Amino acid sequence: MGIGMLLAALVVGAAGPAYLRRAVDAAARPGVALGAWIGTGVVFVSLLVVAPVVMHVQPLRGFAPAATAVTACATMFDPATGGVWPAAVRGVVVAVAVVAGVSAVAVVVAAMSRARRSARAHARSLRSLVEATDHADGVRVWWIADDEPVAYALPGASARGLPGVGRRGSASPGGTVVASTALWDLGEERRRAVLDHEIAHLRGRHHVAVTSAAALRTVFSPVPLLRRAAAEVSVLAELAADRRAALGAGGAAAVRGALGELGAPAGRVAVLSSVPAGPRGTGPGLALALVHAVSPAAVSAAAATTLVLGMCSALAG
Ligand SMILES: [Zn+2]
Repeated sequence: MGIGMLLAALVVGAAGPAYLRRAVDAAARPGVALGAWIGTGVVFVSLLVVAPVVMHVQPLRGFAPAATAVTACATMFDPATGGVWPAAVRGVVVAVAVVAGVSAVAVVVAAMSRARRSARAHARSLRSLVEATDHADGVRVWWIADDEPVAYALPGASARGLPGVGRRGSASPGGTVVASTALWDLGEERRRAVLDHEIAHLRGRHHVAVTSAAALRTVFSPVPLLRRAAAEVSVLAELAADRRAALGAGGAAAVRGALGELGAPAGRVAVLSSVPAGPRGTGPGLALALVHAVSPAAVSAAAATTLVLGMCSALAG
């Protein structure tokens, strides 16, 4: 079972990007694609963390849980019996997986902590620049005087004493949107589209995915899945936030207009052409993303187990 999980991690790590690009139409369903990339990354790291534990607790016996005909063969695969897997090989495999799993968790935790500190510091540095504070959809908006139309999401940023922040910290779940006063020139619908886009980043906690993917890339760049995930996740987060904003009152036209004013790449604007007019439900997006994230690993693990069981059946027969 532990070996099956490591094989699944190898398959997902190597073939994950190709699978995700073919399985999900990112332009039509960026939210599903984003969820699938995030989920696949989580599955990959989880396999690295859990597989050594499983191998340590129950080395390879899980291959043949109930099949008495292949028990002898499964025993042969058990390093404890001195069979086909020398203990040293198992030791190296477990050690590599442990180091990889611990590194993955450590770099993500460190990167998130750095990001939180820098968001707090940035929020403090904005203190004297905030012209006005209001709320959009329950999320705090800080208006900064600037002639350039810009907006960005500032996750967390619940430091006390800042404009619009109560004594008990943030009254704005997820964080704050920082927007320049130049956005007022865009008109009501486009301005609202820009704010909705940033609110979608905060509500979707996109910063967690973007920061984690970037951190994992620094350690796991030889793994195709994590080498590609950072770029894919940050692009998909933008497309998903655009898509969410397009469900607002101004529709896709307002988002396209706002993106044009803010100088977004033409390709990103073009993607929005497939958004139908008017609000609609999110549908089974989360379930679909989960299926795409879990199925390659599950199929790989099952295939590896079936392969060994088949081989053992042949050997035992
Ligand atoms: Zn954005």
